[in-house]
This record gives sequence, C-alpha cells and structure tokens, in this order.
Amino acid sequence: MNFGPTEDQKSLLERVKRFAVQEIEPIAAEIDLKGIFPDDVISKIGRIGLNGMIIPKEHGGMGLDTVTYAMAIEELSRASASVSATVSVNNSLVCYTLDKFGSENQKMKFLVPLANGTYIGSFAVTEPAAGTDASSMQTTAKREGDSFVLNGTKIFITNAGKSKIALIFAMTDKEKGVKGITSFIVDTSSKGFVVGKIEDKMGIRGSQQAQIFFENLAVPAENMLGKEGEGFKIAMSAIDCGRIGISAQAVGIAQAALDDSVKYAKERFQFGKPIGDFQAIQWKIAEMVTLTNAARLMTLRAAWKKDKGERFTMDASMAKLFASDVAMRVTREAVQVHGGHGYMKGSNVERFFRDAKITEIYEGTSEVQKIVISREMLK
Ligand SMILES: Cc1cc2nc3c(=O)[nH]c(=O)nc-3n(C[C@H](O)[C@H](O)[C@H](O)COP(=O)(O)OP(=O)(O)OC[C@H]3O[C@@H](n4cnc5c(N)ncnc54)[C@H](O)[C@@H]3O)c2cc1C
Repeated sequence: MNFGPTEDQKSLLERVKRFAVQEIEPIAAEIDLKGIFPDDVISKIGRIGLNGMIIPKEHGGMGLDTVTYAMAIEELSRASASVSATVSVNNSLVCYTLDKFGSENQKMKFLVPLANGTYIGSFAVTEPAAGTDASSMQTTAKREGDSFVLNGTKIFITNAGKSKIALIFAMTDKEKGVKGITSFIVDTSSKGFVVGKIEDKMGIRGSQQAQIFFENLAVPAENMLGKEGEGFKIAMSAIDCGRIGISAQAVGIAQAALDDSVKYAKERFQFGKPIGDFQAIQWKIAEMVTLTNAARLMTLRAAWKKDKGERFTMDASMAKLFASDVAMRVTREAVQVHGGHGYMKGSNVERFFRDAKITEIYEGTSEVQKIVISREMLK
C-alpha cells in the first residue's frame, strides 16, 4: 500500500493547484457574494480537461483513475466549492454515467463533447414531491412512435440553465415504482424543455441550481440511457460515484478552513502573543487537522476500491457521511479561531462554513448514508 501520490498524480495536482490559485481563488469571494455562475472559469476548466477526468481518452476524457479525480476535486474545492460542485456533477453524475451505461453512438454524440469541455451536463432526479424517495417521482415519459414524450417538473438541478445535455429520470410505468423509472439523454435546447426559477442559496452560491419543466418534451427513443425500467439502478450507480466527489469536496473545504486557521493563529495577537500560543486554539487546530486527514483517507479509500473494480457503495457512503460532518465541524471551529472577524462577510471562513452544509444534503443526506451503511452491515 502506498499513501503518497505518484509522479503523474503530483504533476496533475500541481497544474490543478496552479489553476485554482491563479484563476479561481481571486473570484471565489465575489461569485459567492453576488451568486454568479463563473462562465469563463468553467469554460477554462473544460478546456484543460477537468470536466471529463475519469473518462477514457477515446471518449474525450483524461483517462484518470478515481483516486486522482478525488484529489483534483479536493484541490478545486479548497479554492471554491461552488466551482467544484459544477465540476463534480459533470464528471461523476453525467460523464461517468454515460460512460458506464451509454451505447457507443451515445458516447460519441454526447459523452465526447461533455468530457472534452465543449458542453456542460446536468443530472435531474429530484422533484417537488420526490427528494429522498425517488419512487414518488411524478415526471412521466410516454412512448409515442419513435419518441418518448416527457411531462413534469424537476427542482434543485445543478447546472440547469447552463447545461446543453441533461440526464433526465422519468416514470415510464408508474405501477412498477422505482422499477418503472427510465433515464433519457436530453438536449436542453429541445422544444418543451423550460428552465424555471434560479435558486438563491445559503452556500455554493457560485454554482447554479434551477427548476426544470418538461412540457410535452419529445425525446427520441434512441436517447434512452440503458434499458426501460433501469433508471433507478442507473441513478444509484451514478450517485455512488458522485458521493466520492462530494466527500472530496468536503475534505477540500475543511482543508481550506484549516489552512486559514493555522495562518490566523500565528498572525493574530492577543494578550501580547499569537493566539496559537493558547492551548484552547492549539487543541482546535490539532482536532481540525486530525479530522481532515481521516476524512481524506476515507475518501481516497472509497475511490481506490472503485478503481480496483470492487463494490464501493458502503465505502462511498461512509466517506460522505464522515467527510461532510468533518467539513461542518472544522469550518465551525475555523470561524471560532477567527473570532468576530470570522463572522463577517468577506472572511473566507464564513464562506467555508456556509459551503460545508450542502455536503450533508446533496447526493443523499447524512441520514440516507446511515441507511445505506446499516443496510449493508445487516444484510
Ligand atoms: C444545492 C443543491 C443542489 C442539488 N443538485 C441536484 C441535482 O443536480 N440533481 C438532483 O436530482 N437533485 C439535486 N439536489 C437535490 C438533493 O439531492 C435533495 O435535496 C436531497 O436528496 C434531499 O431531498 P429533499 O431535499 O427533498 O429532502 P427530503 O427527502 O424531503 O428530506 C427531508 C429530511 O428528512 C430526512 N429523511 C427523508 N427520508 C428519510 C428516511 N427514509 N429516513 C430518515 N430520514 C429521512 C432527510 O434526511 C432530511 O433530513 C440538490 C439539492 C441542493 C440543495
């Protein structure tokens, strides 16, 4: 077992870090404050290949393993969790799913431009009445000749309004519950695809989430992803991989909060000495670094199991459950280390604290991770 990065990983991570420091960090506070999606930075990320990291080169990607992908997402998240949210959805939920379940034709038509950065993708399961319980999905897809006609509403969809391709999950047979869900690859410029309200959020404010409405949206039958009724299985597989990305995002947020806290503890003087000389602050730093390292190890282990072709569902859930909790604890302590200055808008740790919360919610809440883990343990 080797705990250090390989030479290839080191060189990629140096490039990602340089990009994050030069291109993302300078705009991170502003996109958060104003709630702006950073089109230019996301385009550049696409051009340097980071939108298709785990996709084979012949399908437009970088051909990296999941361990390297997780390390790169951590690096991007240290600069901005808003940016990494966009990148993580495109990589793990959209590209990975097309790579795993798409036909060769679908890969050439949709995956190549998504992985090489020409397009951005989105992934739409959640609905007003179907959050954790996907079987309550109301969106329908009815076969009409060579097409399926979709009607319904999705909410909270990351990259909606920015994506050219969306993976949409809809009921083809309501009677069958989750076994009646089918997934479709949809061109978002099609007639009947309507983007609704853009959400105003607590954190990751530089990523974009919106409602989507389908109004008699006709999707060619050849754009069905996998087989009819396989949609739930496809969504769960995508989310397994996605949870590694979100764990890495949580680790990146925690690491950024830790880095700022260490710096501040050395610079901030009270009672004639740096606050880092007080044991209360030293213990916080010790706990923050220990938790962050443990979360990183769990994340990389889940990624490593996936790369070995082993079942990694429980590992991805444990990593997400733990890393998201660590991100919350570490960012809360980071605000505490910064005192009143950490509570003010414009301080990095205030942003990290708000950004951390989403990692406990999307791609399965922490409660759902406990259900997944306990189900695996007790089966
Ligand atoms: C910023 C953001 C981005 C998102 N991006 C996307 C996206 O790109 N695509 C997409 O499809 N969705 C997306 N989502 C939706 C997200 O995945 C859901 O919000 C999440 O799965 C929870 O669903 P819900 O919000 O409806 O909560 P609910 O399911 O209503 O849950 C409410 C509470 O009840 C708990 N709960 C529910 N069921 C159980 C149970 N059986 N046992 C114990 N506790 C339970 C939950 O853990 C939670 O605490 C996004 C959400 C946000 C906020």
